[in-house]
Amino acid sequence: MTAVYQANHGEAHPFTTRFYNKINMTNNVLIDGFKLPAGSAPVACVDIGGTKVAVNVVDDHGSRGTITEPTATSGHSDALARQIIRMVGQSCDAADVPVQRIARVGVSSCGPFVLNHGMVELAAPNICGGLAGKARGLPNDWQTAVLEAPLHAAFAHVRVENDGIGALEAERRWGALQVDGVPMANCAYVTWSTGIGTGLCVDGRVLRGKNGNAGHAGHLFVSNNSDALCGCGNMGDVESLIAGNAIARRFSALGYADAAALFVAAYSKDTKAIALIDELCEIMGRMLYNLIVTLDVQRISIGGSVYWHHRAYLLPRLQAYVQGKLPALTAGCEIVSAGLGERVGDFGALALVV
Ligand SMILES: [Zn+2]
Repeated sequence: MTAVYQANHGEAHPFTTRFYNKINMTNNVLIDGFKLPAGSAPVACVDIGGTKVAVNVVDDHGSRGTITEPTATSGHSDALARQIIRMVGQSCDAADVPVQRIARVGVSSCGPFVLNHGMVELAAPNICGGLAGKARGLPNDWQTAVLEAPLHAAFAHVRVENDGIGALEAERRWGALQVDGVPMANCAYVTWSTGIGTGLCVDGRVLRGKNGNAGHAGHLFVSNNSDALCGCGNMGDVESLIAGNAIARRFSALGYADAAALFVAAYSKDTKAIALIDELCEIMGRMLYNLIVTLDVQRISIGGSVYWHHRAYLLPRLQAYVQGKLPALTAGCEIVSAGLGERVGDFGALALVV
């Protein structure tokens, strides 16, 4: 499939300018009106988050029939799968596409996954109330949310991946992790958002692991900090320290109600806010460094709402943290902003099936 790009030359940075000028693809983004090649069968794209599910249909007329609902978290443990099957039908109706014509269904989902007879079920802390117990406040006692088996019963071809892998595939197809349309062989995508997640590719192979959970680097332990409890139950992992909801939880008592407030203060030269953000960048910088030295990737692209809204401030700090450390391993690796920008998630499920 041939994708169509437009270039946005507004965000060059010294660390990346020379390379990007050479290949002339600074911050490519898919133009509006993206469509599959003429004659392509329609596909359904499903994006499952802890709070909402989004479904749309894409074919040679473009992307349409987008519907969004709160993620089903009550009833039987197959409630989420039933919701998705229903929403695909509704999306097809809205797009005027018979559901029988859907050739493939791509599902990009929050994790972690567990496998039951080879089929993905979700063990996501924000969906399954049985993991953390009643104190968590979820209206169910699920240990897992059944997902892949009911979808396979309903649709001919289904591919379920964690959302870090979906985003990685989208960036390798259409974003900053491809060169002249050829996906990079050694690369990673990192999201810095409500949570922290990654997608990893080494030697041209997207890493999945035994249960499809490779890339949950947000749960790397990095501190004994007792003010940082992650939704996964760990104290002092990356996500618990720097994710969007962690910033609000840790720093509201210091006068910064959320990530936006913290950055606004830093932009106004508030020295305390600047120091706090430097600490966040040190933790993310260490995670990036650890990924580079472990996987030997040549480029990492970063997206997610916390990063994206403050990328001009964060990118040079993250690059500076990695630059110069153990150059034999880091010198050949670039750290860049996501080529698909805020739309990485939109294209994650699509990238799984086209
Ligand atoms: Zn965690």
